[in-house]
Amino acid sequence: MEREIEILRDWIDKSDNIVFFGGAGVSTESGIPDFRSQDGLYHTKYKYPPETIVSHTFLTRKTEEFFDFYKEKMVAPVLTAMPNAAHEALAKWEKEGKLKAVITQNIDSLHQKAGSSEVLELHGTVMKNYCINCRREYSAEYVVNSKMVPRCEICEGLVRPDVVLYEEGLDMEVVNKAIQYISSADVLIVGGTSLVVYPAAGLIQYYKGNKLVLVNLSETSQDKNADLVIHGKIGEVFSKL
Ligand code: NAD
Repeated sequence: MEREIEILRDWIDKSDNIVFFGGAGVSTESGIPDFRSQDGLYHTKYKYPPETIVSHTFLTRKTEEFFDFYKEKMVAPVLTAMPNAAHEALAKWEKEGKLKAVITQNIDSLHQKAGSSEVLELHGTVMKNYCINCRREYSAEYVVNSKMVPRCEICEGLVRPDVVLYEEGLDMEVVNKAIQYISSADVLIVGGTSLVVYPAAGLIQYYKGNKLVLVNLSETSQDKNADLVIHGKIGEVFSKL
């Protein structure tokens, strides 16, 4: 692995057009569980897999079960989490003028907490919530502290997360911006994602360069197409760069 890290260090040193595309694995070292790892959210007490619960159908038809899972597993851990070495390295490269954008499937806003400013949140963020009737905005704390289903203080409407749930479409403005960054990137680093959640995972197909780097604990379907593959914990790997 040391040899691969050395190659990546060299590519990063020489580039001023790095783009990062990441997923839940970027935040596991901050204590936020991902979906598919051994201790991920697929292995919990809940009757349904996380992707079934965090869906539009569940929000509308099984609203209590949705918020039971969402508040405990997806919001509460985020409120106390701190960025790790991966988030910090990315923020530093942006400040040095080397990294153009972070494109993330995460909804924890830890990149912003680390100091990154150009962050494209493909799936939104748990930090923003709104009433589906009057659009009044609410904090993540309001949602977590509400009894069962969060309701609007003004009109009693359902307060939902500004997160793209399964069965819901992505914001095309964010997607198009992500495509622009990826298609013109010199180095594309893809980290902490199983690359199975579409359409987000499909965005890396727009990369045209010859420095596609995958940093992931486990193998992914894209390992064979990458120019450099590093299997390891992304925080540990990035702290060596
Ligand atoms: P995933 O759970 O499907 O895959 C995570 C991948 O990261 C796995 O391949 C795993 O091996 C790898 N991984 C775990 N810890 C790692 C580490 N320390 N270093 C490197 N790799 C590591 O996650 P996904 O691909 O992002 O897709 C799941 C969906 O769930 C996304 O849409 C995302 O929005 C959502 N999600 C987000 C969060 C979050 O915001 N932190 C947490 C859970 C799920």
